[in-house]
Amino acid sequence: MSTRQTTAKAIQRTMSSRDEFERLCMRNLLADPTARVFFKDRESRFLLLSAGFGAALAPGRPLEDLIGKTDFDIFSRPHATAAFADEQRVLLTGQPQVDKVESETYHDLPDAWVSTTKLPLLDDEGRCIGTWGYSRNVTAQMAAEKELAHRALHDALTDLPNRALTIDRAEQLLARARRAQASVAAMYIDLDGFKNVNDTYGHPAGDELLKAVAERLKLAIREGDTASRLGGDEFVILIESASLDVGPEVVAERLLEVLREPYQIAGRQLRVTSSIGMATGSRANAEELLQDADIALYEAKAAGRDRYVIFREQMHAVVQDRRMLEMDLAEAVERKQLFLLYQPTFHLASQAITGVEALIRWQHPTRGELAPAVFIPLAERSGLIVAIGRWVLKEACHEAARLRERGHELNMAVNISARQLDSDELLDDVKSALAESRLPPELLTLEVTETALMCDSAASAKRLHTLKRLGVRIAIDDFGTGYSSLAYLQQFPADLLKIDRSFIQAIGQPHDSAALIHMLVQLSTSLKLATVAEGIEQPDQLDLVRRERCDYVQGYMFSRPITPEALEQLLAESAVPGRV
Ligand code: C2E
Ligand code: CA
Ligand code: CA
Repeated sequence: MSTRQTTAKAIQRTMSSRDEFERLCMRNLLADPTARVFFKDRESRFLLLSAGFGAALAPGRPLEDLIGKTDFDIFSRPHATAAFADEQRVLLTGQPQVDKVESETYHDLPDAWVSTTKLPLLDDEGRCIGTWGYSRNVTAQMAAEKELAHRALHDALTDLPNRALTIDRAEQLLARARRAQASVAAMYIDLDGFKNVNDTYGHPAGDELLKAVAERLKLAIREGDTASRLGGDEFVILIESASLDVGPEVVAERLLEVLREPYQIAGRQLRVTSSIGMATGSRANAEELLQDADIALYEAKAAGRDRYVIFREQMHAVVQDRRMLEMDLAEAVERKQLFLLYQPTFHLASQAITGVEALIRWQHPTRGELAPAVFIPLAERSGLIVAIGRWVLKEACHEAARLRERGHELNMAVNISARQLDSDELLDDVKSALAESRLPPELLTLEVTETALMCDSAASAKRLHTLKRLGVRIAIDDFGTGYSSLAYLQQFPADLLKIDRSFIQAIGQPHDSAALIHMLVQLSTSLKLATVAEGIEQPDQLDLVRRERCDYVQGYMFSRPITPEALEQLLAESAVPGRV
């Protein structure tokens, strides 16, 4: 005999009928202090209710007291009205109703969320004689739902509104401003060199910095304004018209100031500047407002960071033009529109041309010859620089090999962008350029700017060491503009320092740079590096760098960047000594 059959037999022995058994079950249920069950007639009067429910509704009041009462006798009018309406709906439709309310009504569950299900109460013939229902505490579930809803609209790291909520808020802001014919503003804020912080101090420090920035932004804005994080180190501030009374410039200036204060991160003091793009006025929608702020941010970055730029209508044309140029650039390599000019480097002591630097030009089909300043930043931003750089390496190595065949053993210097240094492809590109041209590696110099090195110093140093092992030489370009320390530079396997043109050009000017040049050469010597002074145009500049014992010079005074043919001619002439 199975357990279930034994149990059924036992029950039958104590019960005279199934009815009696059901009554027993019901009595247990009604006596339970946690069960919230009730039965009402068609007029919403309590017929029966569980002890737990009675205690929750009216503590201390005997259950019998509640029988025959309605919600109106027990609760506040709004609550009773809502409950009554629910019950009428059940009676009318015969369908269950579920409601979820914050429980002011249950004395044992203050601040809880309670869900009540109400159903038709049917007699044996299936006629609806009233309603019955049960309530559950759904606080935990509601909290989880709330948390999910919050997370969908907030950034997990800083708890600021995320992109979706920002757009939503911006739409509301615009709508309100349109009605009041007022002006609003959106600011895009981007930390300068945030990647650097991540790379140097690690991602936890980067996260800490972002949180600190979020806190400062929250404190810096007025009530009614919104600070949000779109991702990475990109923050947005939405400003309503009332906060703009001081003028958007003042607001932007104040935020730059607040963010510039030193941060205490991972036990050390950190300073970061930021760039701000701002769009003011009104717009058709949030996307436009944010897009214009983003365009202004791009301009702020391009103008040298640590500043704000307010969007102007003309910037649209600039962006459009840039996009078109970028599209043209994508085809420039294939269409053979790029070419290299070569600018000689002279050894000061021997006065001989010892090398050349490859400098790229673009013969644009309609715009004519374009300088690298016009298109290299575009190439860097779009990533095209990797393919272009590959072509430059190949072309320059071929030219150097060709010159060598003709008896001119010159060093070939090639400029490498930060973006190229960011990827292992550079190693392969250098290797294949050398292999294909059969140029001895020691005749190739890679010029990397000081600021490019600072972008991702650890990874860059590693790649440069690998390149160095191939036998190529490394030059640090535009030296003096990146505020590097000696200790910092020592990690890079450099052979050469190129003192930035701006120092040479300031010689003899009101802000004379002679003392600075002296210091830079000393620094270079202490690192046992050769020094190149670039951008020499005048005899007094030459005199000074000679006195300071720079090893090499480069500049318009000796030669501009020239074609391979002109270079060969120059080399033939300078076989006669005494050019410098
Ligand atoms: P850079 O590496 O500092 O190159 C030196 C720049 O100074 C060249 O400008 C050169 O023409 C100019 N220059 C040389 N001597 C003088 C002088 O005496 N006076 C003045 N005022 N300027 C002088 P260019 O060719 O317009 O190149 C500008 C920059 O574009 C380069 O600066 C380099 O950073 C970048 N660039 C050029 N070619 C390439 C390339 O193939 N790849 C990459 N990634 N960047 C390149
Ligand atoms: Ca260079
Ligand atoms: Ca330079």
